[in-house]
Amino acid sequence: MPEAPDLEVIREYLTARTVGVEISAASVIKPSVLRSLAGDFASDIAGRTVVGIDRRGKFLMFRLSGDRLLVANPMLTGAFQYCAPKERVFKRTCLTLSLSDGNEVRYLDDRQMGRLYYATPDQLGDIPGLEEQGPDVLDDFSFDEFRDRLRRFHGEIKGVLTRGRVISGIGNAYVDEILFESQVYPFRKRKALSTEELRGIYDSSRRVVEEAVPVLRSRMGDKIHVKVRDFLKVHNKGGSPCPRCGNTISQITANKRITSYCRRCQPGMLIGAT
Ligand SMILES: [Zn+2]
Repeated sequence: MPEAPDLEVIREYLTARTVGVEISAASVIKPSVLRSLAGDFASDIAGRTVVGIDRRGKFLMFRLSGDRLLVANPMLTGAFQYCAPKERVFKRTCLTLSLSDGNEVRYLDDRQMGRLYYATPDQLGDIPGLEEQGPDVLDDFSFDEFRDRLRRFHGEIKGVLTRGRVISGIGNAYVDEILFESQVYPFRKRKALSTEELRGIYDSSRRVVEEAVPVLRSRMGDKIHVKVRDFLKVHNKGGSPCPRCGNTISQITANKRITSYCRRCQPGMLIGAT
């Protein structure tokens, strides 16, 4: 489940290796992940060069020569692999781009929840979820803008932030980290949060992501398809001691999503008007 820090590292890695390189062929192994809005994918993409790679929230966008984009929304289970063709092809490989320098970029997705969109720049509006995202967590946006955007959404702060409409690029794991840093109980109602608490969330969101990037860069190395999360402070650390106070970290699973937090550092009541 790549979020902004993972995707930043993947973007940097693939930018260094694929920009300026031609895609000589594409092979679609699992067509359900692909939506081609710009003609027959395999024949149209062949011969195009990678011009640049951008990230917008949780989307990765390959800009290709001749006004084409390959936009990936990896959702929960998508990943990218960069390797030589002789590397074993994982069962979860859905699509392969063969590069003219002899390497391959593969899109992996064991549950095929993610999507790849092949589009022209004026078709970006047709890509579900892309333009509804809030400003990227690493973009410059003011606290007032953050607070104004947040006002449009109701419910528990964890859910509001995870949906990506207020700030994009953060999901289940990094929202847990941000709420831990700002010492806000994940199930607090957005409306119940003070300006000071909102300021804390705003400040920690960028910081948590910026701090994760160098850790991931060194830990992932060439294995950009491997998810590294064990260095996080609370997410998925239920039962371990809180790194701030030593109390045991609580972990709750709701709607198949884990929420991890420290009851002492992030006080609140699970049910009731908190
Ligand atoms: Zn604690």
